[in-house]
Amino acid sequence: MSGAHMTPEEFRQQGHAVIDWIADYWDRLDDLPVRSQVAPGEIAALLPDRAPQDPEPFGALLADLDQVVLPGITHWQHPRFFAYFPANSSPAAVLGDLISSGLGAQGMLWATSPALTEVEQVVLDWLARALGLPEEFCSSGPGGGVIQDTASTATFTALICALHRATGGRVRAEGVTSDLRVYASSQAHSSLDKAVIMSGLGEQSLRFVPVDPRTQAMDVAALREAVESDVAAGLRPVLVQAAAGTTSTGAFDDVAAIGAVAREHGLWLHVDAAWAGVAAVCPEHRDATAGVPEHADSFVTNPHKWLLTTFDCSAFWVRDRTQLLGALSLLPEYLRNPATDSGAVVDLRDWHPQLGRRFRAVKLWAVLRTYGITGLQQHIRSGVELARRFADRVSADERFELVTEPVLGLVVFRLRAGDEATVAVMESLNQGGVAYLSHTRVEGLAAMRLAVGGWRTTQQDVDRTWAAIAALADEVTAGSPPPTP
Ligand code: PLP
Repeated sequence: MSGAHMTPEEFRQQGHAVIDWIADYWDRLDDLPVRSQVAPGEIAALLPDRAPQDPEPFGALLADLDQVVLPGITHWQHPRFFAYFPANSSPAAVLGDLISSGLGAQGMLWATSPALTEVEQVVLDWLARALGLPEEFCSSGPGGGVIQDTASTATFTALICALHRATGGRVRAEGVTSDLRVYASSQAHSSLDKAVIMSGLGEQSLRFVPVDPRTQAMDVAALREAVESDVAAGLRPVLVQAAAGTTSTGAFDDVAAIGAVAREHGLWLHVDAAWAGVAAVCPEHRDATAGVPEHADSFVTNPHKWLLTTFDCSAFWVRDRTQLLGALSLLPEYLRNPATDSGAVVDLRDWHPQLGRRFRAVKLWAVLRTYGITGLQQHIRSGVELARRFADRVSADERFELVTEPVLGLVVFRLRAGDEATVAVMESLNQGGVAYLSHTRVEGLAAMRLAVGGWRTTQQDVDRTWAAIAALADEVTAGSPPPTP
């Protein structure tokens, strides 16, 4: 090492070692326990309490990856990671991310790196078209797309746009008032709660609309009633969020019916399809975006969940960018430049809460190009098929029941023996390290969720997971009375 900086040659050498380490890591994933087994504080205790005074070789850090970091990693890229929703990656996305780091460009303005803005716009237009979103959402239309870090940030941004529109822009200067209301189903993701907190509306502004107990989809008649009674009480409805694939069970709200209520009462309709939206890349799964082209004001889906793109990459589109720009545009003197002044360019700093932004589009570009639409379709279809076969196993075993109909790559199921047995089986499975599932509660009952979506998951992985669950069910239910069908 020369001084504190690596020479280009040293970088090349260490870079090869890092790529080797990652490739070896992926190869040995199968033998590692999926969920980290460490206790709180165990990893921190392995680290010194001060940074080294003198430079260390980069290889020392690589050695610590195995000794210190890996025991504290839950392996999201493991073929038997089925918890939460996948946050899958792919070799192409990892290399794309590395290129972004290597360029180290900051794209707050078009002028600070024109390629950063223009590649992002084109790639999001590609993705919009691949998902069947309308041309209005593309950069040549009145709307446009932007990569946010997460769906949570996208939803927050949508709420800021909705507030801007509902108040005729007054919210910028005057802030929020206590009469503004936001609606979503009781199954909406907690990122909406966070958005109302961050916006200053407060949790009191958020109305949770009940769901149909069978489908877990929003009861749209109840939404209409809630909106109408709020209007009658002098309150001001601002935004309704429809879920296209809820976190708990993958339920789909009726976007078209919600859209009709939204239009009638002037609400902004935001569709949260964080997990399921990317499935629309397959024509047979276009129902994942049903109603969006005609009704949504904004839409979010996460390529960082099920579309092979390393976290973080959340794709967010709006139908009308004037609301977004009206709500968030700021141009302090130190950012003024001729391109911005010309009005001929898009400055993505205005499209999200933060100013600075990195070149996230490279990893998505790498994924779209190296898989092609057909490769992405194959990935989604494989996840759906593996989940379907798993659901067949569940249905065929009288000790288990499906809690809701499987949706795309998600199966929600439980032991008929009850909550305790369900949680005990899942916990033993997770502790054993063979696979990792997470839980939910549906209509008050505990359930396990198996979400397929990893890029290395095969039929064998699903079979092995089912075999482990079935064996644990034998142990847990031994001596219990036979299940009631
Ligand atoms: N919306 C839904 C439906 C989700 O399932 C999730 C996460 O699982 C989110 C939003 C939040 O996603 P993010 O972590 O990108 O904010």
